[in-house]
Amino acid sequence: MKRFYIYTWGCQMNEHKSEGMAGVLARAGYLPADDPAHADVVLFNTCMVREKPVEKVYSEAGVIALLKEKNPDLVLGVGGCVAQALKEKLFRKSPAIDFVFGSSNIAEIPRLIEQARQRRALGKPGWVMAVDKIPDTIEELPFLRASRFQAKVTIAEGCSNFCSFCIVPYTTGLLRSRLPGEILSEVSELAAQGYKEVQLLGQNVDSYGKDLNDPRITFAKLLRALTEIPIPRIRFTSSHPQDITDEVIELLGEENNICEHLHMAVQSGSDKVLAEMRRGYTKEHFLKLVEALRERNVNVTTDIIVGFPTETEEDFQETVDLVQQARFGGAFIFKYSPRPKTVAFYKYRDVIPEEEKQRRLEILLTLQKQITDEENRKRVGQTVEVLVEGPARQKGLLMGKTRDNRTVVFEGSLELIGELVMVHITEGSVAGLVGELVSDTLTLVPSSLGGRGEIKG
Ligand code: SF4
Repeated sequence: MKRFYIYTWGCQMNEHKSEGMAGVLARAGYLPADDPAHADVVLFNTCMVREKPVEKVYSEAGVIALLKEKNPDLVLGVGGCVAQALKEKLFRKSPAIDFVFGSSNIAEIPRLIEQARQRRALGKPGWVMAVDKIPDTIEELPFLRASRFQAKVTIAEGCSNFCSFCIVPYTTGLLRSRLPGEILSEVSELAAQGYKEVQLLGQNVDSYGKDLNDPRITFAKLLRALTEIPIPRIRFTSSHPQDITDEVIELLGEENNICEHLHMAVQSGSDKVLAEMRRGYTKEHFLKLVEALRERNVNVTTDIIVGFPTETEEDFQETVDLVQQARFGGAFIFKYSPRPKTVAFYKYRDVIPEEEKQRRLEILLTLQKQITDEENRKRVGQTVEVLVEGPARQKGLLMGKTRDNRTVVFEGSLELIGELVMVHITEGSVAGLVGELVSDTLTLVPSSLGGRGEIKG
């Protein structure tokens, strides 16, 4: 049997695409390998949101070139955003690459592998390519899911927002929503298979349905319909402060299967920078959303960019102030890097020195760590529902996630992996929560709908 190995960079949507690539290869008779050294086909599923992952593609291709010296039959294919943007330039930059495939050409991978092999047998470079200009459909794929209890479900691909710093609309295309019936069928099937958690994916889930030109199809209505499906947990990512509606916020506060966690990228606390980023909201509006969510016990996490070309010290201090007020449960903080094709790339020079970007990054990281630590300490004494995800890094312990997406470590049997359990929190810190198993019971946890985690009475 031939074996494959997939490297995945970037967001959860890319992780799910990799499950699609694995499914396509499994359908063609391939088995997964536990190491690229044991594979006949290696795929890179790439990301271009920042500069570093692009460099990583070339350095990892160098590693595969060394493996090819030992195994000349090894075939390397590159897909994802880097492939979508750079296409045949990739062959010139790294001759170890045999084929390139676009974000919506995943089903063609087995054919590309064969073509690359045939060319090589004829003594020619294996170079073959299938990249649609900009994707305008959502490919139906036979997903080989990495987990038996957590599933990712794409509800939309692409984005029509065109934030000035973001390359996504240029590599992934404009917003394309799946029909609600397809999503409901997929989630119902996952529920029937015993999945405990479904994560809905979209570059901007709140804009779901806007391209379908039917006012009856909105993200809130989709979520409402999903509360009727007997699956214990529904999550979604990512939300956009400009597009999230009151109806979605209301749903997060109700007793239902929608988890109380929202990842909503703010990017900056300065109204001037937000306007130049073309984000469509102000600091005040964002903080109002956070307040409404906090009233509903929703854990809000975010993304922030420091060092946007026009960001002054005063603008940066606005972001510091926003982080202090919003008290995020966690934040991904990045240094701005210019992305080709974007408005910011053409309009501004990347003038803020690297050391200054680093200084701002470290200030925010330190502040956010302190807030995460304080917020986690507040959870001590609570008893919460945890979905056990696997062994913890600490030997002999298990790791899982609360409904509001905090990590909990506790002692328990490996048989609990994939189960919902109740855990009493005994410690909280920047690293997460530590607790004691109250019961390995599914009986204390409401089996499907509801279940906000507290044991009442
Ligand atoms: S909302 Fe903005 S940042 Fe997010 S994917 Fe769309 S263009 Fe990029």
